Amino acid sequence: MTVPTNIKELQNKSRDLMARRVDNQTYVVASTTSPTAHHVVTIQFDKDGRKFKARCTCAWAEHNGIACSHVLAALEYMASLKQRTLSFWTDENAAKRQRHRMFHLVGGNPDDNIWITSRRSA
Ligand SMILES: [Zn+2]
Repeated sequence: MTVPTNIKELQNKSRDLMARRVDNQTYVVASTTSPTAHHVVTIQFDKDGRKFKARCTCAWAEHNGIACSHVLAALEYMASLKQRTLSFWTDENAAKRQRHRMFHLVGGNPDDNIWITSRRSA
């Protein structure tokens, strides 16, 4: 299992992380554990613009974990530039029930999936 067990808690944690855009696919995100470190996150969308892969330099990602707090922070930062707010789901049906725009984060393992719904920020 390389999907976070408590994605909502992780999202809360990610909200405190400063993220900065480097280029179209690359973000630098503050470390949660060290005030003097940061991580590099890359986001790569498929042609359809709905499915994507993410990479991070942190230990969780190195052990094939997806959706670390840094990736979440980078995605939230991307969304904030478009005045959008994200929610993260490990259950596809729960995500579908939101009836919002939906994205799919895929990991290296077929069981590793996170769904992201996007709505206009209040
Ligand atoms: Zn990370």
